[in-house]
Order: sequence, then structure tokens, then C-alpha cells
Amino acid sequence: MSGLAAYAAHPEHTRGRRHPEPAPEYRSEYQRDRDRIVHSTAFRRLVYKTQVFVNHEGDLYRTRLTHSLEVAQIARTAARALKLNEELSEAICLAHDLGHTPFGHAGQDALNECMTDFGGFEHNLQSLRVVDELEEHYAEFDGLNLTFECREGILKHCSYNNALLLGEVGERFINRQQPGLEAQLANFADEIAYNNHDVEDGIRAGLISIEQLLAVPLFRGYHDEVQAKYPALAGRRFVYEILRRVINHLVTDLIDSSAARLGKSAVRSIAEVRSHPYALIGFSDTTRELNYTLKSFLREQLYKHYKVRRMTTKARRVVRDLFDAFFTDPALMPDEHEARTRSELVPGAAGRAAGPAGRARAVADYIAGMTDRYAILEHSRLFDPRERT
Ligand code: MG
Repeated sequence: MSGLAAYAAHPEHTRGRRHPEPAPEYRSEYQRDRDRIVHSTAFRRLVYKTQVFVNHEGDLYRTRLTHSLEVAQIARTAARALKLNEELSEAICLAHDLGHTPFGHAGQDALNECMTDFGGFEHNLQSLRVVDELEEHYAEFDGLNLTFECREGILKHCSYNNALLLGEVGERFINRQQPGLEAQLANFADEIAYNNHDVEDGIRAGLISIEQLLAVPLFRGYHDEVQAKYPALAGRRFVYEILRRVINHLVTDLIDSSAARLGKSAVRSIAEVRSHPYALIGFSDTTRELNYTLKSFLREQLYKHYKVRRMTTKARRVVRDLFDAFFTDPALMPDEHEARTRSELVPGAAGRAAGPAGRARAVADYIAGMTDRYAILEHSRLFDPRERT
């Protein structure tokens, strides 16, 4: 692929796939990664998984799928501007949330609590587990057999102990190295996307107001600018004119600041990016501060709103009930999942587990793969005597 910077991920120098395959004829290795992700079962399920608002609360809120698409388009813009590999950035973004449980962070926290004695549950690690082990598409291997660079990007965080079990892709957490720039970019694109769409969805749901948001300097600045330019504008167009400017501010700053850091660092290859002492993609100090204020506002005013809490409490209860029921009696699960609880060793991104830990992991995999509505249905099938099983 021409036009890439020296420090970008070049597909011809990929560290490859776990199971070697012939090179694709008309696509790059990273295009093939992206295509495999889009064709995966876990990707289709994202449409029925909660971002912040539960899917059945309304058709206009973001879901994990639309969130992932927004993340990917933000990353592609920045990747192109920085002469990074746009296809790899896109693939990482589309896959970054594949391991998310139903019901957003509430679901993940609940499942993590259930798994305390069995190695815990972490959605990043689960995303890697989905693409490495759980997808059943190909005759010759489990998972999607993605390139190292894509897997490296999907695994955003990882504990030291889990890293020890992951082989090559875990090494950077042990050696304290950076991932490639496309992966670093995906993290920022994720944050830019959710901060802004959560503002829009929060206003739409009536949980936060424009008046409250005036306390956030980044919002206030563009609010005043839009008001001055379009004094009669109101409603959703007014909100969106503000948010498109906020997104543009963040993306532009990210590109400019990253370009400046890359220039100063003089890194000349992805290997040098990985061994650089700090991440080279990032905001300027001023914008980092502005972005942080927006993030804190959302944490306090939206994610802790009593209506959101009611939903998250219910969600935690559903996940915990499902886990307890299936862990106590795996025979309640559909046959293929029940069979995995009986297999001697349950393979996973975090090693191979036997006995109760293997059983717990198989239950967690089943629950994590559920969509919101499937989890609710399973819950009522198990706990509501009037419901058909
Ligand atoms: Mg995300």
C-alpha cells in the first residue's frame, strides 16, 4: 500500500497469523482482517448490545454496532491524515467491542464479580478471545485467525498475570512496550466517539440538559459559537451543530498533536514505535484537559443518573442470576455450551482451565455472547414459571 509513513503498519511486514495462510489475492492482509470481523457472528450481535441505553428503550440510541462504526470512521480519518494504515485502524475499531457482555459496563462488572475466583472477566480480553477462539467459521482453525497487529490492537488492556498466559500478544504488557500507532489511534477514536454520542443520547433521553452542559468548557465554547451564527436554531440541529464542532476539535487536535510528536520522536518503523518509551498518539495538554472535563461531566451527570442506575442494577441482577443458575447446573444450558463445561480443558486467551474454573469460563463465554434481549429472555425462561422454556 503506497503512501504509508515508515512508522505505519505495512501489511507486507506483518508478524503474521497464528495459523499461516496464503496471502489474499486482491486484498491486503488487514482488509482481510476487517472482512472477517464484519462477517463474524459476534459482530452481528453488536446491534442488540447496549452502549449506555438498553436497546429496547428506543430505536435512536447508539448500540455497540453503531458505536463501533462511529469509532471506525473517526480512526480512519486520523489514520489517513497521519499516513497510518487506514485498513488496520478500521479493523481494530470494528472488533474492539466484540467481547462486550449484554447491558454495557453493568454487565461486564457483574460478570467480572461472578468470575472473581476464576480469573475474572475483562471485555478487552474477551474481544481477543472471540477472534482467537470462540468464532466458529473456518474448517482449519478456531476463531478468525487475524494478523498479529490486529490482535495487538484489540487487546487494549491486560493484567500482568493474564499477559503471561497470552504468548506474543501479551508480551508488551510484560515488557512495558507500546502497541502500533493504529492501535493507539483506535483508543482515542473510541473515546472521542462515546463522549460525544453519549452527550447526544443523554440529551435525547432527557437525562442531561444543554444548560447543565454549559459547565463543560469544550461544549460551552462551541455552544456560543453556534448560537451566534444561528440565533434561531434549536432542538436536535442545535445540539448536533455543537457536537460536530466538538468532534472536529478533538480529531483535529489528535492529528496535529500526534503528527508533532511523531516528528519530534523521529521513529522510523513500527518496531521503534513499540519500543518508544511513551505512546506517540495523543491530544495536546490543553485538549486533554478539555476532554477530561467532558468525560467527568458524563460520569457524574449521566452514568450515575438514577434512571441509568435503575437499568444497570437490573442488568447486574440478570447477569448474576444467569451465572449462578448455569454454574450450579450446567445442564440448564443449551447442549453445545453445556458440553464445553464438561470438556477437560476450556481453552482461552487467558490459558486453559480445567474443573470449576473451566466450567465458569464456559458459562461466562455463553453469557458474554448474549445480546441484551436474549439475556432477558433466558432470564425469564429460567426464573418465570409462566414462561415457556
Ligand atoms: Mg468502545
